[in-house]
Amino acid sequence: MAAKVIDGKAFAAKVREKVKEHVTRLVGEHGVTPGLAVVLVGENPASQVYVRSKGKATTEAGMKSVEHKLDETVSEEELLSLIDTLNQDDTIHGILVQLPVPDHIDADKVLAAIDPAKDVDGFHISNVGLLGTGQKAMVPCTPLGCLMMLREEHGSLSGMEAVVIGRSNIVGKPMAQLLLKDSCTVTIAHSRTKDLPAVSRRADIVVAAVGRPNMVTAEWIKPGATVIDVGINRIEKEDGGTRLVGDVDYDDVAKVAGAITPVPGGVGPMTIACLLANTVTACCRTHGLAEPEGLTA
Ligand code: NDP
Repeated sequence: MAAKVIDGKAFAAKVREKVKEHVTRLVGEHGVTPGLAVVLVGENPASQVYVRSKGKATTEAGMKSVEHKLDETVSEEELLSLIDTLNQDDTIHGILVQLPVPDHIDADKVLAAIDPAKDVDGFHISNVGLLGTGQKAMVPCTPLGCLMMLREEHGSLSGMEAVVIGRSNIVGKPMAQLLLKDSCTVTIAHSRTKDLPAVSRRADIVVAAVGRPNMVTAEWIKPGATVIDVGINRIEKEDGGTRLVGDVDYDDVAKVAGAITPVPGGVGPMTIACLLANTVTACCRTHGLAEPEGLTA
């Protein structure tokens, strides 16, 4: 039987609607408008597209959106000074510095300068530590989006065997922590893993976050397993154009999986929805108000 397609676009729309409802309540009942500041350094075209769509989504959710576009040549000191100003700004509840930053700027130093309470990307070492010790943290958006889709699909994840392929700080590791927190038995696989297809075949849940087009094939998947494809890879088409594919060979894996996310239209839309969710969560925590249900880890 063909796998169920997990429609990330439709689910993200639901999450964004929930965010909007919560924002309306925050504004109406508490006079608080959540605010997100996005900082972009340089002219990277992909980053410009991301920043534009983040700003648009933030405004559509009824939140305050602020964009700071800095010249490629801005000094690290100037960038740190802007972050300090945003840290002090009571109307801003979330700060996101669009990565990558130019080589002359130390990205780790920049991320460390963001107030952990406003760290809606969840990359600050304090949030990494809180997540790692099972405490309330700001959680990176992409793994949070994957978790939400898995909970929607399965309800409880307790006792399920999960294999995360990829061990990056922004996707693989936090994904594994979140699955562990939901009581999965978790394996993290990476480029040195021996017999990866056999490891992957054990899993009830496979999350692929590698960056290699169509790497995961049907032989890697236990029949009925749920497959979440985080990968975004641009490949050339026969007609000379390009198209996006994931890390999972979709047509092949869909023959054996129980459920699968497509690329595009799977994890991608959930990432922005979770950025909005994180901004609302950060706002609620700052003001000591009830957090939106179903929008946190
Ligand atoms: P990284 O390059 O930081 O990490 C890739 C991971 O994959 C590494 O841990 C690496 O292992 C592992 N890996 C590489 N080759 C293999 C292999 N042959 N077998 C097994 N493991 C391998 O990537 P990211 O985590 O940042 O991103 C992963 C993918 O997800 C990319 O395609 C990226 O574009 C996409 N992405 C999508 C997002 C979305 O919103 N949908 C958001 C963020 C990322 P090792 O550590 O041993 O080198």
